[in-house]
Amino acid sequence: MYEKKGDKMRRSLTPNEIYDSIFSIELTRLYKKGYRNILIDVDNTIIPWNADIISVKLRDWLGKCRNMGFTICLFSNNKSSRVNRLAEELKVSAVPKGGKPLKTAFRRALRHINGSPQNTIMIGDQIFTDIWGGNLMGLYTILVNPISTSEFWGTKFSRFLEKKLAGRRGLG
Ligand SMILES: [Mg+2]
Repeated sequence: MYEKKGDKMRRSLTPNEIYDSIFSIELTRLYKKGYRNILIDVDNTIIPWNADIISVKLRDWLGKCRNMGFTICLFSNNKSSRVNRLAEELKVSAVPKGGKPLKTAFRRALRHINGSPQNTIMIGDQIFTDIWGGNLMGLYTILVNPISTSEFWGTKFSRFLEKKLAGRRGLG
């Protein structure tokens, strides 16, 4: 069926699911649906932007994912030193300096975890990197609200566009 360009654009910016935080995600249901890998953004998705605060709750959640059978990989556009250190702390793998939303970046991440678009979930707080890229690659995409409002200036501008172009609501 003919689809208008604007509709296609809007669809590629729409996540499959939206949650207030990663802790509300229904992991069991997703596992039953066949998903086995989780690519997860770092800044403002699992920890506040550029603050290395690892909560007990986050550790527990990652442990729960692992026990359930998920492979988790930090997929961030932030610098290698920081993302790799966090990954080591959290005992998960990492693809830093990701280059989201580019398809090549997502391909690299999928190769890294030996995953496919059919069995991989992308979780993140930004529509124009995490969700857009994930959708372009055919992953199952989950948007969460950003942990804190303190952000990189470029991200702040992106938030403005998220509201204007992608109709994002519910941001605090
Ligand atoms: Mg983020």
